[in-house]
Amino acid sequence: MPRAKADSAAATLLAALCRRIRRDGAMPLDRFMQACLDDPVHGYRLKPQTIGADGDFVTAPEISQVFGELIGLWCAVVWAGMGRPAPVRLVELGPGRGTMLRDALRAAKAVPQFLAAATLHLVETSAALREMQHHTLQPGSRGADQIPRVAWHERLAEVPAGAAVIVANEFLDALPIRQLLSRDGAWCERVVEATPDGDLRFAAGPKIGRPDEAPPPDGAIWELRAGEDELLAALAARSAPHVALFVDYGPAGPAFGDTLQAVRRHAYVDPLAEPGTADLTAHVQFSVLAGKARTAGLAVDGPISQGEFLGRLGSAERTARLMAANPVRAAAIEAATQRLMSPTGMGQLFKAMVVRSPELPSPPPFG
Ligand code: SAH
Repeated sequence: MPRAKADSAAATLLAALCRRIRRDGAMPLDRFMQACLDDPVHGYRLKPQTIGADGDFVTAPEISQVFGELIGLWCAVVWAGMGRPAPVRLVELGPGRGTMLRDALRAAKAVPQFLAAATLHLVETSAALREMQHHTLQPGSRGADQIPRVAWHERLAEVPAGAAVIVANEFLDALPIRQLLSRDGAWCERVVEATPDGDLRFAAGPKIGRPDEAPPPDGAIWELRAGEDELLAALAARSAPHVALFVDYGPAGPAFGDTLQAVRRHAYVDPLAEPGTADLTAHVQFSVLAGKARTAGLAVDGPISQGEFLGRLGSAERTARLMAANPVRAAAIEAATQRLMSPTGMGQLFKAMVVRSPELPSPPPFG
């Protein structure tokens, strides 16, 4: 969108948010995120070009095809470990541009029985991205021949019953969070309020009770993500065997702190300025997710770092093979894999964790 148009859309959304806050009171953070991302006229998710070098942020499948290819082979191995059920639901949550699935399906051609058994289910709320996924996965588009039939869904609970292999890269971080702020030995809701001159600012909202344990130091922030509960309930409700892989950024152990981030054109920006023009996300608390999954009756493997996950799936071998097949691009291919594996970057910040039916064995590379 041209800058001037984006500015006026942001100003319109800002004014609408201020009016809504003055009428209904300050907004908890999850409602604010939802309002910026999903506003029917000026919401961020209406933008078609958000992911990739020309957009606002780049994800692992957009950096290297090795990522999607290894995930595709992983899906086939997991399916074999389930006893080769047919049909099997191959589900992706938040597929973005469809790049990971396209690369995954190309690699999975090595296991034709898996592709023959798979029906594809894309859980995606953005109409703009659904269109892009449709385009990427069309038979005939680069590397996308022999693609099984695709169905789109609003949420996981809509995916038909049956055995399922579910993958999600950078999906959980996009689900809205609430933030609780520690104040005088109690937790307050962190809210967004309107200033008299029509801007937005953070504030401490109503007290919501005392923490169960010793309260953390004043000013500490604890983040909650209700969307995970809905997702885990949908997984727990599936009676057929299922394995779900979540790859995302965030700490392995519990951590306090404000991790809300707004990203526009590959740079961090103020999450309250120019609403609707930046992607809003926050770190995934893997230990909390694991605890909630176990409480829901599911089994958990990991988390392990993305570097370890991809390394154990054979990223070095796959990269070497690609480099040999494309000598002109060898340096770029190697650099892209290194970016995914870097122990000071994505390789460590990102984690891979599996949530699955308890009767199944731990899938590779966890088991
Ligand atoms: N997995 C992709 C895209 C990550 S961005 C990649 O790695 O490139 C997050 C994706 O999740 C987008 O496709 C976004 O539209 C989708 N999404 C966000 N919230 C969602 C929700 N509640 N339900 C379904 N999809 C959602």
